[in-house]
Amino acid sequence: MRMARFAVIGDPIAHSLSPQMHQAAYRELNLEHTYEAIRVSLGSVEAELERLVGEGYHGVNVTVPLKEAALAWSIPDAFAQAARAVNTLELRRRRGVNTDGPGFVQVLDRLGVAKDASVLLLGAGGSARAIALSVRASGRALAIWNRTAERAEALARACDGQVETELDLGAYDVVVNATSASMAGESLPLEGADRKAGVAIDLYYSGGATPFMERLSHLGWQAHDGRELLVEQGALSFEFWLGVAAPREAMRTAVGL
Ligand code: NDP
Repeated sequence: MRMARFAVIGDPIAHSLSPQMHQAAYRELNLEHTYEAIRVSLGSVEAELERLVGEGYHGVNVTVPLKEAALAWSIPDAFAQAARAVNTLELRRRRGVNTDGPGFVQVLDRLGVAKDASVLLLGAGGSARAIALSVRASGRALAIWNRTAERAEALARACDGQVETELDLGAYDVVVNATSASMAGESLPLEGADRKAGVAIDLYYSGGATPFMERLSHLGWQAHDGRELLVEQGALSFEFWLGVAAPREAMRTAVGL
């Protein structure tokens, strides 16, 4: 593939670091591909995807709030189907995959999180589901807390995990914030974090520490923002489309890691 077109679609999309990250990867490997951000509203996903197919785009990443619509439009693989969300499309053949879950496990491995570590997942929304399935498949123990308890129970059943009702962090090695509380600048009612210092990962990124990260790093936890997942899910998308190893260090540098 000499020159191919790629994009990320979502709404809002202006904040996305995906274009600069993928463009850095192309530069690193002397590829002439292009990657842009396109704002697409939920009501126009199908028409927009058809337009991109018609214009010869090779692949797109899909972000909030379009991942379920991308699932419906595509021919998803088994994992995307189980996750009920597609974040990566190969347009010509309509292939849909989900790299958020496997990408998150690569983040855990990269941060040196042991295979027998216990993970507490906060949230039971779209990204939490993919992450929960992959964390369980990696063999790690998983408990789920969610503001709406019934959704935590349903997700725990789907991935054979536990439900946490107290939000007591003291019993876990890793805590993942997959709620959208950070997007709204809100904090969560975290307890027990002073009894232990583990690894804290917020899926959100905005250029600064979130209230969740600030609170836990103050107590000695090793806190990371959503750029860790951004790079790993993006690297897996790159490899799905192009079939060559993604230059992860160049991608990390491009997003300031
Ligand atoms: P969803 O809308 O599907 O889910 C939102 C979740 O957040 C629900 O569990 C909801 O709980 C919970 N929630 C919302 N507000 C609050 C609050 N004030 N207090 C407690 N819980 C709250 O969102 P997604 O799963 O798609 O995304 C979640 C986050 O992950 C976003 O910040 C997104 O930006 C980020 N993300 C980052 C990625 C990356 O590459 N870095 C990839 C994917 C997602 P309830 O069920 O009670 O409503």
